[in-house]
Amino acid sequence: MATAVAKPQRASSAPKVRQTQLLIDGKWCDARSGKTFATYNPATEQKIADIAEGDAADIDRAAKAARKAFESGDWPKMDARDRGKLLNRLADLAEKHLDELAALETLDNGKPLRDSRAADLPLVIDCLRYYAGWADKLTGDTIPIRGNYFCYTRREPMGVAGQIIPWNFPLLMVAWKWAPALAAGCTIVMKPAEQTPLSCLRFGELALEAGFPKGVINIVPGYGPTAGAALVKHPEVDKIAFTGEHRTAQIIMGDAAQTLKRLTFELGGKSPNIIFADADLDAAVAGTEFGLFFNQGQCCCAGSRVFVEEKIHAEFVSKLVKRAKARKLGDPFDLSTTQGPQVDQAQFDKILSYIDKGNEAGAKCVTGGKRWGKKGFYIEPTVFDEVTDDMPIATDEIFGPVLSVLPFKKIDEVITRANNTCYGLAAAVWTRDVGKAHRIAGSVRAGTVWINCYDVFDAAAPFGGFKMSGIGRELGAAALHNYTELKTVTMNLD
Ligand code: ADP
Repeated sequence: MATAVAKPQRASSAPKVRQTQLLIDGKWCDARSGKTFATYNPATEQKIADIAEGDAADIDRAAKAARKAFESGDWPKMDARDRGKLLNRLADLAEKHLDELAALETLDNGKPLRDSRAADLPLVIDCLRYYAGWADKLTGDTIPIRGNYFCYTRREPMGVAGQIIPWNFPLLMVAWKWAPALAAGCTIVMKPAEQTPLSCLRFGELALEAGFPKGVINIVPGYGPTAGAALVKHPEVDKIAFTGEHRTAQIIMGDAAQTLKRLTFELGGKSPNIIFADADLDAAVAGTEFGLFFNQGQCCCAGSRVFVEEKIHAEFVSKLVKRAKARKLGDPFDLSTTQGPQVDQAQFDKILSYIDKGNEAGAKCVTGGKRWGKKGFYIEPTVFDEVTDDMPIATDEIFGPVLSVLPFKKIDEVITRANNTCYGLAAAVWTRDVGKAHRIAGSVRAGTVWINCYDVFDAAAPFGGFKMSGIGRELGAAALHNYTELKTVTMNLD
């Protein structure tokens, strides 16, 4: 009799941490100060490793190395097509080491391994390959101007790009930042988030293995107010690409004023997810669950304000609660786990304080609302019903597994309420009526609108915010403009 082979339920244990130093000018080194900081496993609250803690002195070394690599050496001499080849080689290495990189991401961030493997890493690889294809396609125009002149434009690399990223999608943020910058011919100084430096450092090793010349990619882990601020102020850095909170972006904008740096920001949100009564209800419920609870609710575009048409409100909430309760919390290395811990104590505390504020304001907590387990930063999937627009849980970005349901009656009303926020990152609408769908798509002030879906990302589709959700766009051809300067050349033909 044949025996069924059981699928392993837990992927092999934590991966080896291979790299904990700074990458400057092609070499791994300690911080000048000799200082280190600890990175923790959010599922166990145990220390994983000590990481070299960069500050202004290290940023200075890295910025000078990036400047030198931009102006001399192999990088500026390289054909654009060969830059594309290097990006493809890095994508090949990411594919080869997919399991290790996914496990590092899960170890450091706490996200379920099934997500790191099925979402983060494939998106990383796709992003690198997409921009590899762009490297030799950055063209200018020929422009007919008055008089006997030949006028044309060139797209030239912007120079040294300072890149500051958050902890929610550590490696994906590396790919979103590195790939367009390198395709355009820039050099990089990256500061990963202090909570999650591991996958970025391992990627630095793979970038050297792929053959990127020394100084093209520099990595300086450290804290925001020290390493991050020094990067923003450094005169050798031409631009800052930042993803994080809008309050940090406000500080960065001030710090960048002295050197008039180019800035691109991808910031937070309080995205409306609008469900009409004529929607495919089960699909809308599943999309709503995914749109908020994916990645433990730690997505800048999380659909945290769920507007539900009154006629279906009760049925929608009861189905949503069932799905929220069915989420499986636990060891993120267990392949059946669908929700891991929040990234750290600070986020955990902030989310629980918002749950308190929801209760105090009189919203009805219909499921969750508490810590899960005794160890690790786990929070139960939480749904608040009967939320009103003025409650803190409806106005503030929580960045955790807390969803607010807000009933509505009319389309005009929901458009006004959806736009009643300082944010404008994303929105979604669920309906079978194409007229309504496009009316919402055209009226909601947000950089991305999903119709009958949520969180559909592609390297080719631009992503970014209206209002206080950002400046500029990531991904697609749009991101290349963040890393190039336009030059006009005019020649006298007389
Ligand atoms: P989060 O709350 O998600 O950690 P932040 O905006 O605080 O969001 O952090 C995102 C990134 O910005 C991190 O890499 C962090 O170290 C960095 N950062 C924080 N403060 C500053 C600052 N003053 N200048 C530059 N970077 C900063």
